[in-house]
Amino acid sequence: MRFATDEFPERTSHMHFDVVIIGAGIAGLYTALHIDGKHTCCILTKEDAEVSNSWLAQGGIAAAISLDDAPIYHFEDTLIAGAGLCDENAVRVLVSEGPNDIRRLIEMQVPFDLDNEGDLDITREGGHRRRRIVHAGGDATGRETVKALAQLVSLRQNVTFMPHNFCADILTDENGAVSGCTVLDVTDTLFIIDTPNIVLATGGIGQVYKISTNPSVATGDGLAAAVRAGANLKDMEFIQFHPTGLWSDKHENRAFLISEAVRGEGGLLKNSEGERFMLGTHELNELAPRDIVARAITKELIRSGETHAFIDITAEPREYLEHRFPTIFQECLKRGIDISKTWIPVCPVQHYLIGGIQTDLDARTRVEGLYACGEAASTGVHGANRLASNSMLECLVFGRRAAAHINARFADGGEAPHAELPVSEKRNIVKRDFAALRTEIQQLMNDYGSVLRNENGMKKALVRISEIAEELNCSYYPGREYIETLNIATLAADILEAALLRRESVGAHYRED
Ligand SMILES: Cc1cc2nc3c(=O)[nH]c(=O)nc-3n(C[C@H](O)[C@H](O)[C@H](O)COP(=O)(O)OP(=O)(O)OC[C@H]3O[C@@H](n4cnc5c(N)ncnc54)[C@H](O)[C@@H]3O)c2cc1C
Repeated sequence: MRFATDEFPERTSHMHFDVVIIGAGIAGLYTALHIDGKHTCCILTKEDAEVSNSWLAQGGIAAAISLDDAPIYHFEDTLIAGAGLCDENAVRVLVSEGPNDIRRLIEMQVPFDLDNEGDLDITREGGHRRRRIVHAGGDATGRETVKALAQLVSLRQNVTFMPHNFCADILTDENGAVSGCTVLDVTDTLFIIDTPNIVLATGGIGQVYKISTNPSVATGDGLAAAVRAGANLKDMEFIQFHPTGLWSDKHENRAFLISEAVRGEGGLLKNSEGERFMLGTHELNELAPRDIVARAITKELIRSGETHAFIDITAEPREYLEHRFPTIFQECLKRGIDISKTWIPVCPVQHYLIGGIQTDLDARTRVEGLYACGEAASTGVHGANRLASNSMLECLVFGRRAAAHINARFADGGEAPHAELPVSEKRNIVKRDFAALRTEIQQLMNDYGSVLRNENGMKKALVRISEIAEELNCSYYPGREYIETLNIATLAADILEAALLRRESVGAHYRED
């Protein structure tokens, strides 16, 4: 199926921009700030600018900027985390250009935290052999960065910010090059934006799973639309599960994240009996890599039959915890958990898409004029596992590179396209219980496509999810709910197919069989 939408009224209105950026997380905003002021540009988002993975990012951004560090060490640490599957050229670009992007952010007034001497407070995280993580607002790095970038974007004469506009599909001309995109406005009315350049900065796919740290907008629309337009996905089997999402008995789809830093500051993982089950599992105990901790917790929960484990950080004084982890402290308190007195209930949750839309070093997909950056893209820098705090750096480095390539394309001239109305496929309109279908897919992915995977389970899930995808492909229903459900089903099937093909356990992909 080429298009998710099926109804293209004759009088569909057109807008024109030189560049369309889909997504206002760090990748989309930073890209926009690097598009030459001569070119008109719009940024679309599904919801308000605050609803994104970027807004929620806590820990920080990694780059070799401290005096005892160098890009080569960052390069080596990234390759180790990626378990031999990183694209070394992409990693080289990431670690060597990254420090300058951090300096750019400082010039752009991102308020990174300072130490007592007034220097950047650079910390360490799991997998990094040097101190190289800059952070802002204590544990609110993403929010502070998005706020600063969005403020600068609002001052740009050439950039139009268009929140609550949902991109459904990428349009291409007779040569397969980008000519525009279809968009549903806030009333679900379809219009077309003509453009030769589209940057997909649409973030992750958390909604494919039952519980995720990602917000509701993370339905993978950019990935699914890219595939329908002819781009490739890569490394979809590699999904990072965060070991310590805040557990809740309220069946919430979005889990609040209890950052690694809490374990870094002495938090101990315990079961309900108070036993430290990480002891003996890995030499770093609670600070073992994310995938190892996520597996250890999952196995412990299967063994005990319980729904969650705990982090005990009660040894630290309340004043210190309140200052060091303001967001986590307050969020837990809101839920009746004073973390200076009570153990924090946690369980593994979907967190980050390591793979994505295959791109080159200039963030180009194989469709001319179609770019992808940030979490939606697979540049190859993460290999089989993402090193903590490398993802926001990837947003910056490859977002800037996408903009540079687009600016250079304009220098070559070229006609502005007028996107043709797609030919309707005229499928039957069928209203289904989309919420129920989503829940079914999310449960199957949780049970069979998650931290521990095996062939039988994945095949069982794939059969049912493919059936759902096929039903949704063959019929149609106007509106976002249908498109999001279709995208979730398509990507869930892609993840399972890739996971079945990779028979060995590597990085974030673990086969029990
Ligand atoms: C809780 C949490 C903590 C994290 N902590 C860190 C950390 O400390 N360090 C780090 O490096 N990384 C961290 N990450 C990962 C990192 O935040 C993300 O990978 C990164 O911010 C992704 O940025 P992005 O710009 O690619 O996408 P996002 O920030 O997710 O933005 C996606 C944008 O795309 C828009 N969009 C999506 N679909 C459509 C559509 N169909 N039409 C229009 N718009 C659309 C959305 O509205 C949104 O504006 C964390 C993630 C989470 C969830």
